[in-house]
Amino acid sequence: MSINQNKILISGGAGFLGSHLTERLLREGNDVLVVDNFFTGNKQNLVHLMSNPKLEIMRHDVTFPLYVEVNQIYNLACPASPVHYQYDPVQTTKTSVHGAINMLGLAKRTRARILQASTSEVYGDPEVHPQPEGYWGRVNPIGIRSCYDEGKRCAETLFFDYFRQHQTDIKVVRIFNTYGPRMHPNDGRVVSNFIVQALQGKDITIYGDGSQTRSFCYVDDLIDAMARMMATETGFTGPVNIGNPTEFTMLELAQLVLKLSGSKSKIVYQPLPSDDPKQRQPNIDLAKAKLGWTPKVSLEDGLRETISYFSKLLNV
Ligand code: NAD
Ligand code: UDP
Ligand code: UDP
Repeated sequence: MSINQNKILISGGAGFLGSHLTERLLREGNDVLVVDNFFTGNKQNLVHLMSNPKLEIMRHDVTFPLYVEVNQIYNLACPASPVHYQYDPVQTTKTSVHGAINMLGLAKRTRARILQASTSEVYGDPEVHPQPEGYWGRVNPIGIRSCYDEGKRCAETLFFDYFRQHQTDIKVVRIFNTYGPRMHPNDGRVVSNFIVQALQGKDITIYGDGSQTRSFCYVDDLIDAMARMMATETGFTGPVNIGNPTEFTMLELAQLVLKLSGSKSKIVYQPLPSDDPKQRQPNIDLAKAKLGWTPKVSLEDGLRETISYFSKLLNV
């Protein structure tokens, strides 16, 4: 990496969101160091960028210390889908908590600005709707989602303590459900599940009665908001919600995927996993005001792009 240029570390850069962020930051001419243990991400997500000499990829687990010289850090390392984060829940908490400590220690030493990819899961199963940043959430501390939810909550605590105690230049975004190309086809998240099932002519699995809601943001919109947050004035820490406030039931999502893919798959109903939030919609007033941002891509347009990606990937 050369002098006088942005040297940006992206932990989790080989994952779904991380690979899109890497692509954008390289396009802007930055030096990017991707740090990833390839648990849920893979090099395939970055292969189209590998000829760019400004990209460096390092196999490393963020639960261990890392000494490199950078001036910006995006901390994305953490499995995000319930199937993956529940596979080794202790490692999930370690990744969020020890990973945050190591990345914050690195930011403190190098005086780098550091952005945390937090999550709407910090609101748990909310009794305030839509969720503003001031809402403290309703999270079960001992359930099967807790390794992720509480890990991410503790990471936010660490970010704000490094800010108060060491004046670390922090930024925290709370990401709501995001989808798009390069989601892992088997990661169990609802958009990838429904699309893969529809394309393969398999049953569409709705958990519960399909009346629970989510608000889905297309990846390009999300990455734009993250980059804007990183560029805000020093002292503006967030947390800031980023996501698309248009809310859909899972039944509506299933019907839309069937329509857009032209699939003949039938819908089947399976048991609802425990602690599954009933509704989720971001209040994005703060993002609009501070980032000058609103999502632009409709669910229908975003699903078309995503269906086309999976159709090539699965060769169907
Ligand atoms: P992903 O699983 O595709 O990416 C996570 C990346 O982190 C993977 O490349 C994985 O290999 C890597 N990783 C996991 N543990 C690691 C460790 N210990 N050390 C180094 N690397 C490690 O998930 P994603 O959807 O791209 O999510 C990225 C970030 O955004 C996560 O922190 C997630 O919690 C957050 N987020 C995502 C969403 C969403 O809807 N996609 C919503 C809220 C928050
Ligand atoms: N750390 C790191 N890279 C650095 C600086 C620190 O990985 O460049 C790790 C370090 O191992 C430590 C953690 O970050 O465990 C927290 O660092 P901090 O300086 O806040 O705490 P301390 O070293 O005093 O425990
Ligand atoms: N879901 C579903 N069928 C699936 C996968 C998920 O009905 O095949 C439901 C899940 O129970 C939840 C919603 O879709 O209510 C979103 O699930 P996802 O795992 O994508 O995200 P999260 O629950 O973390 O928001």
